[in-house]
Amino acid sequence: MNIIVLVKQVPNTTEIRIDPKTGNLLREGVESIMNPEDRHALEAALAIKDQHGGHVTVLSMGPPMAMEMICEAMAMGADRGILLTDKVFAGADTWATSTTLGKAVERIGAFDLILAGRQAVDGDTAQIGPQVAEYLGIPQLTYVRKLDVQEGKVIAERVLEGGCEHIEAPMPVLVTVLSSLNKPRYPIVAGLLDAAAGRADMETWNAADIGVLAPDVGLAGSLTQVVRTFTPKEARDTKFLEGSPGSVAAQLVELLRQKEIRLGE
Ligand SMILES: Cc1cc2nc3c(=O)[nH]c(=O)nc-3n(C[C@H](O)[C@H](O)[C@H](O)COP(=O)(O)OP(=O)(O)OC[C@H]3O[C@@H](n4cnc5c(N)ncnc54)[C@H](O)[C@@H]3O)c2cc1C
Repeated sequence: MNIIVLVKQVPNTTEIRIDPKTGNLLREGVESIMNPEDRHALEAALAIKDQHGGHVTVLSMGPPMAMEMICEAMAMGADRGILLTDKVFAGADTWATSTTLGKAVERIGAFDLILAGRQAVDGDTAQIGPQVAEYLGIPQLTYVRKLDVQEGKVIAERVLEGGCEHIEAPMPVLVTVLSSLNKPRYPIVAGLLDAAAGRADMETWNAADIGVLAPDVGLAGSLTQVVRTFTPKEARDTKFLEGSPGSVAAQLVELLRQKEIRLGE
């Protein structure tokens, strides 16, 4: 079984800062990690391979430093790693990103299953998985928390608002997963050393390698533009009242009076 896992390198979210003047993300000195749900997608691929045999390819579009994440994926057990990196891919919105990933999947060739995280913690749109499935013209199962593979089909449990759905789909199919799906394995140190030393099956592809033209990818191929990014201002003026219950009640009444909020008469 040929499985492709879409993985994205993201800044460690607890450290995200926004430049108050430019509204851009401040990435300097911020640790980069594999998008958390993508780690669960990779674990699902490796577990299916352990059970049924097969070949796992991890695919990412990002800057050259994303190769570190590919190395980590190799050390977890992926068989092949491909990083799509080229200056013309920069500034891509989700449309351009999906087109680029879709073209790369076409170059990889026959596959049975594509796994992705439900959502990236930085871009946060949850659009890439569904858009890649649309580009390739295959079925998609999103928000999956249980996954099984049997005789040419996947059987999944999808989380819905207020319930869940048991669903099957024939392969090839694209599945986006939630972190409740599994517990990812740790990378093996020897695997990390092999990958870092170039002894693993890893490669980088540029725009020419996947047969795309600059106007169709990156910022030029994007249908949307970010007009402004900003941190919302605190909307509430919170004040903590201290003292005995009687004193707190008296302070509260006084505050309400000052704000001219009429109390029950
Ligand atoms: C309007 C708009 C404009 C943008 N402009 C820029 C910009 O100028 N510069 C910039 O750097 N970013 C930009 N972005 C962000 C960038 O397009 C997104 O990070 C990227 O398209 C992925 O979308 P997402 O992060 O929302 O992923 P989601 O759709 O939330 O990701 C879901 C899953 O898809 C897979 N996936 C997502 N991205 C990748 C990837 N690159 N490689 C492999 N798998 C992936 C992962 O499995 C991930 O878990 C923009 C986004 C939008 C919506």
